[in-house]
Amino acid sequence: MPTPYDDMWEKLNLDLAAHEGLLQVLGKFYGDIYLTQEGRLKGMEYLDFVLSEVHGLRIKELQEAKAQGRKVIGTFCVFVPEELVLAADAVCVGLCAGAEIGKEAAEKILPRNTCALIKSFVGFKLSRLCPFIESCDLVVGETTCDGKKKAYEIFDEYAPVYVMEIPQMKQTCDRELWKAEVRRFKERIEEVAGKEITAARLKEAIKLGNRRRRVLQRLNQLRTAVPTPISGRDVLLINQVSFYDDPVRFTAKIGELCDELEKRVKAGEGVVPSGTPRLMLSGCPMAVPNWKLPYIVESSGAVIIGEESCIGTRNIRDLVDESGDTMEEMLEALVDRYLRIDCACFTPNKERLQNIVSMAKDLQVKGVIHFALNFCQPYAIEAFKVGRALEAAGIPMLSIETDYSMEDVEQLKTRVEAFLEMVR
Ligand code: SF4
Ligand code: SF4
Repeated sequence: MPTPYDDMWEKLNLDLAAHEGLLQVLGKFYGDIYLTQEGRLKGMEYLDFVLSEVHGLRIKELQEAKAQGRKVIGTFCVFVPEELVLAADAVCVGLCAGAEIGKEAAEKILPRNTCALIKSFVGFKLSRLCPFIESCDLVVGETTCDGKKKAYEIFDEYAPVYVMEIPQMKQTCDRELWKAEVRRFKERIEEVAGKEITAARLKEAIKLGNRRRRVLQRLNQLRTAVPTPISGRDVLLINQVSFYDDPVRFTAKIGELCDELEKRVKAGEGVVPSGTPRLMLSGCPMAVPNWKLPYIVESSGAVIIGEESCIGTRNIRDLVDESGDTMEEMLEALVDRYLRIDCACFTPNKERLQNIVSMAKDLQVKGVIHFALNFCQPYAIEAFKVGRALEAAGIPMLSIETDYSMEDVEQLKTRVEAFLEMVR
C-alpha cells in the first residue's frame, strides 16, 4: 500500500517491498506485545506514536536536518560519547539491531555462530531495510567485543565507518588510551560535521545528555513503587526510544509521563495484582524490536522493575560532571563518566557484579533473569560470576541464552514459569 514516505524511502535506496513487509511484521508484533496491555499510562501514547512513525516522521526529520547542513551520526554502543556529536550540531541516532530480518543476508558473509545483534545490523544494511543506517553520514563502531570489531571491518565496505578503541581494562594506561580516543573522536566529528566543538557548545550538550539521563532516573525511581505502576515492557520501550528520538523533545515528553506516573503512585494504583513477583533483568542490551523475553516474563505472571543493561540503568546511572568550563575539564569529565561503564567486555569487571547485587537489593526483587544473546561470550561467560554474586546475596538467578527467533518461546516460557514457581 502506498505511503506518504515512499519517495523518501526510495531516495534512501531501501528495498521497498521488503521494507513494507518489515513494517507489517513490526506493527503486528508491537500490537500483540504492547497494545494488548491494560492500564497503560496516557503518556505511553507518545511512545506508540514514535514507534508507529519510526521509519516515517523521524526519518523525515533527519532528512530535514541534513538539508540544513547538519550531519547524522549512527552509533551501536553506549560507549560513544554522544555529547561530542550534539556539540557539533549533528544528530546522534542509536542504530537498533534487535530484529531477525536480514539474518539470511548476514549469514552469507558472517559465521552463523555470530550473535544476533551483529547479524542484525549487518543484515539490515545488506538487505537495505533500515532508513536510519541509510541516513547516516558516519557510523561509529567500537572495539568492545571481538565479534563487533571484526564485523565493522566488513561493514566498512558498505557504509562510512569510524571505529573507536575501547580499553579492556581500567588501569591508568587504559584511561590514557581512552582519553586519546575521545580526543580523536572529537576531531573526527568536527571534520564530518564541518563545525568546531566549542567549550560553550560542549557544556550545553553535557547538560542536555544529563537532563535526559535524569528524567530516565526519575522514571526508574517511580516504577519501584508498590503496587508496580508501569510495566517493564513499557519502561524498556522508553529506554529504546531514547536512542533515536530528538533528545529535547524526548526529555520533555518523559517528564510529562513521569508527572502522570507520580499521580498514579500517589493514588496507589498499579498495573499488576498485588503479590505479583517483581524481577530484574540483567545482561545484553535489548534493541528495538527485541521484546521477546520481557513479554514472556510479564505474560507468565511476573513484572520487571529494573534492567541492568545498556538499554537500561547502565546507560543512565552515571551523569557527566557539569562543573567544568574549559574544554580540557569537560573532556576529562567525559572520559571519567564513560569509563565507569561496566560492560562485560572489561576484565576484571567487579563493578558490574557489585552494581547488579546492589540494584537487586535496592529494588528488593524476588529474582534476576540474566540474558545473554547466543554466542555472546562476554555476557554468557560473565553470567557465572553474576549468578555466584547473587547467590551469596541470597537472590535467585535464572540464566537465559537466546536470540531473536521465536522458535524457543515455549521452551523459555516453561523455564521462566518454573523460576517463578521457585521464587514465589
Ligand atoms: S553491552 Fe557493551 S558493547 Fe554492548 S552497547 Fe553496552 S557497552 Fe556497548
Ligand atoms: S551482544 Fe555480546 S557478542 Fe553481541 S555485540 Fe554485544 S557484546 Fe558483542
